[in-house]
Amino acid sequence: MKHILEFDSQALSDFVASHDEKSFRVGQVRKWLFADRAQSFGEMSNLPKSLRGHLTESFQIWTSKVVNHSKSEDGTEKLLLQWPDGGQVECVLLRDGDRRSICVSSQVGCAMGCVFCASGLDGVDRNLTSGEILEQMLRLQHLLPSDERLSHIVMMGMGEPLANLNNVLATLQQASAADGLGISSRRITISTVGIPEAIDKLTELNSRYNLAVSLHAPNDQLRSQLVPVNKKIGIAKILAAADSYFESCGRRLTFEYVLLAGVNDTQEQARELASLLRKRSVLLNVIPYNPVEGLPYRTPSAKSISKFRKILTDAGITIQFRQRKGDQINAACGQLRRNFRPGNEPVQISAS
Ligand code: SAH
Repeated sequence: MKHILEFDSQALSDFVASHDEKSFRVGQVRKWLFADRAQSFGEMSNLPKSLRGHLTESFQIWTSKVVNHSKSEDGTEKLLLQWPDGGQVECVLLRDGDRRSICVSSQVGCAMGCVFCASGLDGVDRNLTSGEILEQMLRLQHLLPSDERLSHIVMMGMGEPLANLNNVLATLQQASAADGLGISSRRITISTVGIPEAIDKLTELNSRYNLAVSLHAPNDQLRSQLVPVNKKIGIAKILAAADSYFESCGRRLTFEYVLLAGVNDTQEQARELASLLRKRSVLLNVIPYNPVEGLPYRTPSAKSISKFRKILTDAGITIQFRQRKGDQINAACGQLRRNFRPGNEPVQISAS
């Protein structure tokens, strides 16, 4: 059995043609999958019975099992999915006013080793396929009532999306296509630890997604401690690649900065960060540390956060604090992990 979500329009056209069916059937199948939220081929009532039969024999829509589904009081929902090889990932639906944003994973685990993040604690197992990434999006879409649509996608779940670039791009192509999920590239953000060659590739491909770069430190010495892959890369190369991306597509550049008490939140570090970013048109997205069980870091006090903020604002940097969502169910930034540990999930509303 193949995974239908691995098939783009062209591949599906080939399948339909090989069964002597008319090409307009492709659009019908995709509408059922992406807009009408069909759970099975049997529901696709405007298709000839024979085509429904061929689809059922050849394809699966769902390849994962929902191992856990938790819901927070702030409206955030998190799914833990497991694939047949045992690989597990988490993905999240966030509700904010009219926004219905989803945060999806790109790898089982993560190899980057950021010292404050839960996702990489056990290293990386494998890349997710494009169908597996898309399946997370559809599973989260199915949590919405039929009159609500997904509005934003962030590639900020487990894994480093630019370490799985081809599959991530194939997924986002489907997510942004008018006959896919129809979410404009302006509303899709790829968050990366900063891999210059992969950012250059996005520039070359004329990609139109928002790019968020996880900076976390104003100098290489500290960044290499917090984000170990930085030892081989260095901030200068990342900034150069990000600048070219911005110049080529004009999409807003965001730098993310997790604020760790006593580690990267001093006034001196705020000034150093301001001078690093001053000449750039960027948004600085500060994420006060979300606690991860077993890790020694602390969230800074409100007073030290506001001092940090003032220095950057006074220096003319556009700064935004990421609202903490879903922390009640460990669904906030950096809290996603592959193992469901009983007791880790305060509100469990269903499991299948
Ligand atoms: N691999 C991607 C996506 C990571 S998750 C990347 O590195 O950008 C999105 C953001 O959450 C990243 O900036 C990540 O560094 C940050 N993050 C990780 N752990 C965190 C934690 N415990 N608290 C707050 N933010 C965290």
